[in-house]
Amino acid sequence: MTLHTKFAGYADPALHAQGLYIGGQWQAGAGIPVLNPSTGDVIAEVPDATIADAMSAVDAAEAAAPGWRATPARQRSEILRRWFQLMTDHAEELATLISLENGKALPDARGEIGYAAEFFRWYAEEASRIPGEYRHTPSGSHTILVDHEPIGIAVLITPWNFPAAMATRKIGPALAAGCTVILKPASETPLTAFAMARLGAEAGVPAGVVNVLTTRNPGPVTSAMLADPRVRKLSFTGSTGVGRTLLAEAAKTVVSCSMELGGNAPFVVFDDADLEAALEGAMIAKMRNAGEACTAANRFYVQAGIHDDFVAGLTARMAALKIGAGYDPATQCGPMITQKAVQKIDHLVSDAIRRGARTTTGGAPLPGTGYFYPPTVLEGVSVDAEIAHEEIFGPVAPVYRFETEEEAIRLANNTEYGLAAYVYTRDLKRAMRVGKGIETGMLGINRGLMSDPAAPFGGVKQSGLGREGGVTGILEFMEAKYYAVEF
Ligand code: NAP
Repeated sequence: MTLHTKFAGYADPALHAQGLYIGGQWQAGAGIPVLNPSTGDVIAEVPDATIADAMSAVDAAEAAAPGWRATPARQRSEILRRWFQLMTDHAEELATLISLENGKALPDARGEIGYAAEFFRWYAEEASRIPGEYRHTPSGSHTILVDHEPIGIAVLITPWNFPAAMATRKIGPALAAGCTVILKPASETPLTAFAMARLGAEAGVPAGVVNVLTTRNPGPVTSAMLADPRVRKLSFTGSTGVGRTLLAEAAKTVVSCSMELGGNAPFVVFDDADLEAALEGAMIAKMRNAGEACTAANRFYVQAGIHDDFVAGLTARMAALKIGAGYDPATQCGPMITQKAVQKIDHLVSDAIRRGARTTTGGAPLPGTGYFYPPTVLEGVSVDAEIAHEEIFGPVAPVYRFETEEEAIRLANNTEYGLAAYVYTRDLKRAMRVGKGIETGMLGINRGLMSDPAAPFGGVKQSGLGREGGVTGILEFMEAKYYAVEF
């Protein structure tokens, strides 16, 4: 695989990948075009892996497993630390590559590379701190020892919205734990994954420890890998719908699953909030990645006393954003990932307007090439509108008015999702009370950004199972083994 020459200048040729990455070898191939969402042009074609390719990847991961498991933690740690350093050294090329295939604005892409690399540094540190336990039974009958062992071969499936970070958030803890992996990146954004695999090899990751494959048939290919008894872990980030399918598939062989799924984050602003801080936080929570984030504020609940000022301030900020190609340095809001994504957003906005909402800025797709939808603010949105219940995944901010704290909590919880939520108030007691009331895995208090490698990332309800990052993230890739010891 090569980048088409007219785009080659956007990324360091050393980072260009050559095909499927299995057992430390690049296997050339074609079949999946990768598009530049800023223009709709094809920028590269990557291989379409078959079930046989996937089985080769499992073979490679199996062959590498005993050696990697036996590699001292300190050595695994140093390899991950070198990988962090190489990503940092190549940050600008990687960010440009992300902007090219994903469309996100360069500042967002640079932010993603910094965040993504930090998972390698964090898990380089955690590799040498894997916990165990030593206890006496209450009856005094014997001693309990608990060890943690690598769970085995892990299949990692990632989405297109954070092509680097969603991969490192899984590879980092898996390698630190001593597992070997097969990464299947999203078909829209495979180039970043291939580029990172090259850097991993340079950092000293042994052949077969990390394998990368792209496929047009993720369902059958994943099912084949999950049916293989050598595969013991599935770590998936993506939509709740696909997550449900994969949980059912994994049940057949009782494969351990970690699921990072969709969100529908409420952003609650009380009358006593610092308006400027709330607007700044709203822009980060809504517009990071042009709204294509699972943690994106999807519903703005604003108390009656501050509602009109909030809408005016948000409208001014959204309307001022510069729209353009992701890799244009002036761009603040890039294109959506596909034309289909634009159509979905258009449908949600049209439905909200039909049910009484009013746009204060934006409100319709932009004509011309590329997949552009402008920053949009909706007020007077009905709680029955589809947009109140669906992940928008775009630069649209629906604002709802509320009166009381109880009402805000009830509205915030009126969803099957529970990934992220935001609360703005100067009253810390209220913030904690509302925080307890909202069903969510993560809560930003007077803060629009919560992702951090040192924190446990994940959701409740149908937003997922398990946590990535933090001190517990490594345990998702380990099994506890209990020794009952009598001295
Ligand atoms: P998606 O359609 O679920 O795809 C995610 C990944 O799953 C892709 O690699 C995709 O491959 C693969 N896939 C699709 N169907 C599959 C199947 N039947 N079996 C196995 N793999 C399959 O999601 P997306 O549109 O890429 O990403 C957006 C979603 O991800 C949103 O819902 C967002 O909230 C969620 N997300 C969650 C988090 C979190 O941490 N909770 C973070 C980021 C994103 P192809 O690309 O080849 O179809």
